[in-house]
Amino acid sequence: MPERPELDYVVPILARELSGLAIIGLRVDSPVVLRVALREPASEVVPGATIEGVARRAHFVVFALRGAAGRALELVVAPMLAGRFSLEAPTARRTADLALTLALSDGRELRYRDDVQMGKAYVIEAGQRRNVPGLEHVGVDVLDAKSFSRAAFRALAKTRHDQVKVFLMDKSALDAMGNAYADEALFEARVHPKTFVRSLSAEEIDRLHDAIVTVLAEASAEVARRAPPLDEKVRDFLKVRNRHGKPCPRCGSTIRKAGVHGHDAFFCPTCQPDERGSAIVDFRATLRPEAAVVEPPAPAPAPKPARKRHS
Ligand SMILES: [Zn+2]
Repeated sequence: MPERPELDYVVPILARELSGLAIIGLRVDSPVVLRVALREPASEVVPGATIEGVARRAHFVVFALRGAAGRALELVVAPMLAGRFSLEAPTARRTADLALTLALSDGRELRYRDDVQMGKAYVIEAGQRRNVPGLEHVGVDVLDAKSFSRAAFRALAKTRHDQVKVFLMDKSALDAMGNAYADEALFEARVHPKTFVRSLSAEEIDRLHDAIVTVLAEASAEVARRAPPLDEKVRDFLKVRNRHGKPCPRCGSTIRKAGVHGHDAFFCPTCQPDERGSAIVDFRATLRPEAAVVEPPAPAPAPKPARKRHS
């Protein structure tokens, strides 16, 4: 998916290019991407609306629209894995992955393409964020130094019972990382992706906090420096993500790939040793002996005698 560094690059460009333009037409090239939480179909309310601004919220791109009679609407796009935007002339070739097109008053088209059709575009009344799964509750902004302090990250980590990669990707906790930058932050912090958060030391949690900030800030700077076309993802500078079988840039070991709760994770087995084994032994040592006794199964409860009702 476009992640934080890509969205932080793309969204300000969209805001600059689109703010103040009117939408004169809507073409739904792939109906599966569009969700409308209004009484009317999108084709009745989106054409004629003005784009007042474009902002990022977690992994969403939110277009603020002003519709007929001043009605405030939002077009919320979750690009997920493969969604991408481009600004094109109407005569530009329509690719097979085209999902949604907005015809704009300056003669161009904003095209949203998605070759796996996992992304979604929602049209909602402004502020009705509960209509979009994941939009309402967004975690702490990891690039806001004031709110994302070491203390804030420690407090957040204390509440977690999951594996660290799952924690990093939880957008209701942290705004925001996907697969790629979670892997990169874990590599930077030398933490194995399957480590349970509760088994991380205070020092490891601080290291992970600093790694998240460093990795995302550096990636954002690199994407801005390279200034790719809107629809291109620059990822060739990543150190472990999608580098399965290649040498670790730090120690030369072979990068591995593992599944973590339905997500794939790339890591260096030397720089990020799997310490879960010792954690499990520690946990078992704290069990009281009686916890191991297997109780005979309880007899099935006798059927309750029917109570006489007072009439
Ligand atoms: Zn290594």
